[in-house]
Amino acid sequence: PVSKDKDALSTVAPYACQRQTPLIHHNSKITDALEILGKAASFQGSEVRSLAFARAASVLKSLPCKLQSIEEAKNLVWCGGHCQTVIQEILEDGVCHEVEVLKNSEQYQCMELLTSIFGVGVRTAERWYNDGVRKLSDLADLHIKLTAEQKAGIEHYTDLKQPVTRDEAERVESLITRALDRFVPGLRITMTGGFRRGKQQGHDVDFLITHPDEEALNGLLEKSVNWMDSQGLLLYHHTKARSHVQTRRRSTHMDGHETCYAIFALPNHDSLKAESGDFTSSGACRWRAVRVDLVVAPYEEYPYALLGWTGSKVGDAELCSQENGRQMATELHVGEATGPVSACRL
Ligand code: ATP
Ligand code: MN
Ligand code: MN
Repeated sequence: PVSKDKDALSTVAPYACQRQTPLIHHNSKITDALEILGKAASFQGSEVRSLAFARAASVLKSLPCKLQSIEEAKNLVWCGGHCQTVIQEILEDGVCHEVEVLKNSEQYQCMELLTSIFGVGVRTAERWYNDGVRKLSDLADLHIKLTAEQKAGIEHYTDLKQPVTRDEAERVESLITRALDRFVPGLRITMTGGFRRGKQQGHDVDFLITHPDEEALNGLLEKSVNWMDSQGLLLYHHTKARSHVQTRRRSTHMDGHETCYAIFALPNHDSLKAESGDFTSSGACRWRAVRVDLVVAPYEEYPYALLGWTGSKVGDAELCSQENGRQMATELHVGEATGPVSACRL
């Protein structure tokens, strides 16, 4: 009913974590456009403008109906200024001119290509673009110096570009659980990131690891990663040590947890059944590369780390059903949460 929808439009909760934000919603034409503008802003180094577009998109995703006129969008939180123009143009013309120009621009397309490489951020991509890089093969032709991370990202580019399915994520989970269990029994291992928000696919698989006994966590990541490497399960890994709050830069959005950024060689169903052994030397496609993040958090910081690593970046929960939300709230109250709020970026 129209009146009920109108009500809903004027009472959108201001904080993303107060709203349900379904993955499939009624205003995707507008949110797609806003997200492209947000990406372009981040390519220009403006995180503030990028965040503004992301917030507007997040609000529109939570609406219970399709916007019919610009009047309906007048009072929506976070949707003022530039966003109003975008919304109006799409409602009236079906497309936003500024977005069409961006999508067709060489710079936007290149930045999107280059930042999609593992280990390449906006600043590196911009430098490469200014050096004349337009496609992946230019990196070798122009003798661009690459880090080990970027080399791995380019070597496995095609695999990493292909979304990780839930089935693959679960297979990664069982491999990791088995590896970690060898060193410390009774760990709490939780799949976080997009999959925990209910997404059916993702660009990687994220895990949060904890144990009530903090001693048990010492050296765990190093030992288990080395073991997985020796089994031919890893194509790349880099572990960032735990850093303390005092030693971290104020401005960073990164937390201080011990984290391993890895590329897994995930064996196919068939080769898993066949035998164990050295998967990396196999000729035919017996494995695929999958990006995996492993995060270790002390038990008292676990609730905050869980919230931070479940995301999303904007703080909305893509498929957060009430059940999912309730479960999250319950989990966040477990443990005496007395540690620093290290991962909480609401
Ligand atoms: P996708 O399905 O594409 O992987 P995602 O939401 O899982 O989406 P990730 O980049 O894997 O995206 O990040 C998972 C969550 O962890 C996000 O909420 C992100 O903001 C957070 N996160 C990622 N890296 C860090 C970091 N270094 N420190 C703190 N939080 C991080
Ligand atoms: Mn993820
Ligand atoms: Mn991740």
